[in-house]
Amino acid sequence: MQEFDMVVIGSGPSGRRAAVQSAKLGKTVLVIDKGRRLGGVSVHTGTIPSKTLRETVLNLSGWRERGFYGRGYRVKQDISIGDLVQRLHKTLDHEVEVLQHQFMRNTVKSLQAEARFISPNAVSLLAESGERSEVRFANALISVGTRPHRPENVPFDKRRVFDSDEMLELDHLPRTLTVIGGGVIGVEYATIFSALDVPVTLIEPRNSILDFVDREIVDDFIHQMRDRGMIIRLGSAVKEIASKPDWAEVTLADGRSIRSEIVLYAAGRTGNVASLGLDTVGIEADARGRISVDPQTFQTSVPNIYAAGDVIGFPSLASTSMEQGRVAACHAFGVTLPPPPETFPYGIYAVPEISTVGQSEEQVRESGVAYEVGVARFRETSRGHIMGVNTGFLKLIFALDTRRLLGAHIVGEGATELIHIGQAVINLGGTVDFFVNNTFNYPTLAEAYKIAGLDAWNRMGQS
Ligand SMILES: Cc1cc2nc3c(=O)[nH]c(=O)nc-3n(C[C@H](O)[C@H](O)[C@H](O)COP(=O)(O)OP(=O)(O)OC[C@H]3O[C@@H](n4cnc5c(N)ncnc54)[C@H](O)[C@@H]3O)c2cc1C
Repeated sequence: MQEFDMVVIGSGPSGRRAAVQSAKLGKTVLVIDKGRRLGGVSVHTGTIPSKTLRETVLNLSGWRERGFYGRGYRVKQDISIGDLVQRLHKTLDHEVEVLQHQFMRNTVKSLQAEARFISPNAVSLLAESGERSEVRFANALISVGTRPHRPENVPFDKRRVFDSDEMLELDHLPRTLTVIGGGVIGVEYATIFSALDVPVTLIEPRNSILDFVDREIVDDFIHQMRDRGMIIRLGSAVKEIASKPDWAEVTLADGRSIRSEIVLYAAGRTGNVASLGLDTVGIEADARGRISVDPQTFQTSVPNIYAAGDVIGFPSLASTSMEQGRVAACHAFGVTLPPPPETFPYGIYAVPEISTVGQSEEQVRESGVAYEVGVARFRETSRGHIMGVNTGFLKLIFALDTRRLLGAHIVGEGATELIHIGQAVINLGGTVDFFVNNTFNYPTLAEAYKIAGLDAWNRMGQS
């Protein structure tokens, strides 16, 4: 039986990073993935496909130019699903190629099979051909990710009712779309299709969407969605979804019903733990298939078996998953790392983008810290004028006593890139004076940081 220093189950962001990190430490590594191609949800059904779709839609629809040329402007008049899928396949092929090359360069072995624990030091492998084998390991990482949550009363049929993985298999653009779920995935797909001028209804049973984001940012985002004709139904649960020959019908608990050609059900995900044999080794998962770990080391209840990525739950991002994989691998091989930074950014690739780092105004208020806020609208920047941007803003929150930046929140063009300035300042302990005293490139959207800094500084006074 073959034996490895590290066996990684799942080749998504956490598995990939853990595998390469282990190899860089001179260890023997095997990555096992049951998928036909390496890369996980991130490459094949999640992050990269949805972001590629978004980029293609924004380019072909001429979305970014509409501030100048009006809402009717389009780069390509009749956008087909073929236009969207072509770029998707090219991007995914490239991602897989880069990943394979990275494994090759670092002598990480990979294998297509389904893995199942048979002891705390061995897994059995079931290949697609039906062939079975076993490998032994000193350490293992469970990085099996999640799949869309599919309640039994939802009639998924890939004709009228889709989950988020299946949306990539659409054979034509829907005439109308209903999205159920106001989380990141639901909001991203709803706004991407709306940018294609597909009439979209977004349904969220709770009273608001994206509840981890600063309220002012979410309110502005909801305003922008409604302003372009999207219908948003908040605060009413879904009672029934019916798939009819020509349409789907969603009935809400408050009696209203919505008809559309297609429904995307995007309300939650479940950990891929059912076939892992966790009970054999004594690791428990909760009802949603999530495994608990030590948040510092990512060890499960079995010390040489680690878990990282979406299978451990919050925050379930590709970005954080990668870092968890690296930290787990370092811990497994005795490498001590400095304590992790205070905060990490969230990127929501809706149209428009939202990005946020640090504390929201609600969190700061709850903590009792006295604070001041500085705001800059993108239309106040010269770069915004050049780009024809008439929406979007940046909000910075500073502590009054230390003058330190506590939170940065952005809705608008380039938010997911711009946020890293805020992230650096927060994690390096920077204050409002950084923004006031430093020169920013001109004309840029980043200049909004200077404007928001000055806005707060004017009210806070000099130190
Ligand atoms: C639509 C969508 C959009 C997203 N957008 C973003 C974004 O913009 N930014 C961001 O940071 N994150 C985003 N995410 C989240 C991101 O995709 C996940 O956080 C990330 O993929 C989780 O990585 P992971 O390491 O848990 O592995 P995953 O990517 O979930 O991959 C797990 C792998 O494990 C394999 N596997 C499962 N069970 C077994 C088994 N028993 N044996 C062998 N192999 C197995 C699977 O085949 C799969 O390949 C998005 C997710 C979705 C669904």
